[in-house]
Amino acid sequence: MRLLAWALLALSAASPATAALNPAEQRMAATVTAEQPRTIALLERLVNQNSGSQNIPGVEAVAQMVRAELQPLGFTVRWIPLKETGRAGHLVATKTGKRGTKKLLLIGHLDTVFEPDSPFQRWTLEGNRGHGPGAADNKGGVAVIVAALRAMQAAGTLRQANIEVLLTGDEEDPGTPLDLARRDLIAAGKRADAALDFEGLAQENGRDMGSVARRSVADWTLSVTARGAHSSGVFSAGTGYGANYELIRILDAFRRELPEDKLTFNVGLIAGGTSAKLDAGKIRAEVAGKTNIIAAQAVARGDLRALSLEQVARVKAKMQAIVAQKLPGVLAAELSFEDGYPPMAPTAGNLTLLARLNAVNADLGMPAMAALDPVKRGAGDISFVAADVDGLVGLGPASSGDHTADERVDIPSISRQATRAAILMTRLSQERAR
Ligand SMILES: [Zn+2]
Repeated sequence: MRLLAWALLALSAASPATAALNPAEQRMAATVTAEQPRTIALLERLVNQNSGSQNIPGVEAVAQMVRAELQPLGFTVRWIPLKETGRAGHLVATKTGKRGTKKLLLIGHLDTVFEPDSPFQRWTLEGNRGHGPGAADNKGGVAVIVAALRAMQAAGTLRQANIEVLLTGDEEDPGTPLDLARRDLIAAGKRADAALDFEGLAQENGRDMGSVARRSVADWTLSVTARGAHSSGVFSAGTGYGANYELIRILDAFRRELPEDKLTFNVGLIAGGTSAKLDAGKIRAEVAGKTNIIAAQAVARGDLRALSLEQVARVKAKMQAIVAQKLPGVLAAELSFEDGYPPMAPTAGNLTLLARLNAVNADLGMPAMAALDPVKRGAGDISFVAADVDGLVGLGPASSGDHTADERVDIPSISRQATRAAILMTRLSQERAR
């Protein structure tokens, strides 16, 4: 208590800009600062417990550690096992507050890309950087959630807040079928009035950026079959062009006709010849062909990233129209899609949430956060709720080297983000739900 009072005093004396904060908000800022050593100690414990997406007991162990943090704050914590999807499951923590006020959904994940066979397993503190597997992605984000909620508790603003925390156990490598693996997250989105995603804070030229959108990802497969014949007849009316020319005609038309803002499409694999077949994992092809035989089979795979459902639908229709214009001799050309992550479009509601965050920044004496170009942001779990609820991305810490053995979390950004989150969540949770 004395430490807290001192921190409060130090904060108000040192930063006159925080005078715009009310006493509860000043108390939250001071609590985050005073508890930073506790937060870092929690992060160290989370990182030192391996939780690769496929390490089911490891993900469960991290969930237990988070449960022990949230239950004392008044949350009802549920574990949803999802072994039938090949993954551990999700942790859902709910807290009911004042009736009729906005319900917040906090999104993060328990798993990392580092499985138990990775040599990268331990946390080390290197000055202002914490080096470790998941130090930022996303255990740093989980630490921010806990720090922010504890600050709200200390300031007395948690009691009246309606909050649901959903931490998936398979963000890095989702279970299958995806419908089942994301069922509970989608349902939580439908219950919420605002969704906050605690994945990494984006920075540009050293400035913190706000994220209001993420692009979708869908994989596509193009398969062509054509009349195979002696090469001497190629281009003739009776024999036609073969599968390879058709595949290339289609891909070249994609390249020339599809480009538009915020859209990318990649061709990751091509095979064509007298026979061309994908393996079960669709990452290899068995292909054979001869110089003097017109190709009968060709296949290509790639991905498509877009910003809105409208853009996805429109581009898919354009692609199908290109595929439908067959060259002579083509028996069939088929384009199929496997949807992965849906888009999170930069809606007016999302931009309003960023404006609310920037009001918090102004009151903290921090610069406003500009909206990041969504092309610079990968897909994430919040995308699954984006169709149902306004959301803000990137409330976790800043970092470098995510998904590699160089993953380092920026320690000062943990308290900065927890302070912003605690104040933003308090303000939102005091508003009436629509
Ligand atoms: Zn990740």
